[in-house]
Amino acid sequence: MEPDVLDISVVIPVFNEEENLGPLLAETVPVLESMNRSFEILCVDDASTDGSLEVLRELQRKYPPLRVISHRVNCGESAAEATGFAHARGRWIVTMDADQQNDPADIPALIKATSGADAVCGVRRKRQDDWVKRISSKIANGFRNRITGDRISDAGCTFRALRREALREIPRFNGMHRFLPTLLRLQGYRVVEISVNHRPRTRGESKYGVGNRAMRGLVDCFAVRWWRRRCFPTERCRADTEDTTR
Ligand code: UDP
Ligand code: MG
Repeated sequence: MEPDVLDISVVIPVFNEEENLGPLLAETVPVLESMNRSFEILCVDDASTDGSLEVLRELQRKYPPLRVISHRVNCGESAAEATGFAHARGRWIVTMDADQQNDPADIPALIKATSGADAVCGVRRKRQDDWVKRISSKIANGFRNRITGDRISDAGCTFRALRREALREIPRFNGMHRFLPTLLRLQGYRVVEISVNHRPRTRGESKYGVGNRAMRGLVDCFAVRWWRRRCFPTERCRADTEDTTR
């Protein structure tokens, strides 16, 4: 793992978001600049089939802190996040959607809440999605917490600040992004929640419906339950002394 050379890496998974990227960067960069911390923005293009990658390349000329990484084939949001984690150089990683539903103005509050925590997870105050999504999320959150034994308020909100080092120990799988707070807690990390703003998606389309989330989410819950029983948290299992005699 590369040493921390920056304070903050903002990791943004991108799949067919060409219309959102310009306004997103125009809103995010000034917020980060106002924080007086070193930063980079990593957009991970998840093999978009629209002009997202070209738009990102263009935006790089305007915003030097923007780095663009691209997948050859579409791998999903979790994989795009994981690629961002692997390339990030900041001590703190802020994950944020590309569709402007998250409000970059909340980034300073997320970072502020990191004192004494390893992960700060956003909880959408007034969720601006249709009722089908809102109700299915409510049911999913309740079910997820019951099965995994956790108490996460809004696992579907991927607007978070995460200690980069902590992410090293997290298993990578498709769907991981919905379980990150739980997986971090299982490794012994301190996870807190703060409420964040949420806005309607005004450009592009959501990549998820109830169908492609429900069944997978269900199976993942049981996988995480198994992981909870079998994982060994690093802190608890660290060796006290290193035996150097041979
Ligand atoms: N995304 C991605 N790969 C995919 C699907 C989605 O990188 O295969 C990105 C997408 O561009 C967005 C984020 O993941 O930045 C969340 O997707 P979306 O906004 O469609 O989810 P919703 O907010 O509707 O749950
Ligand atoms: Mg969205």
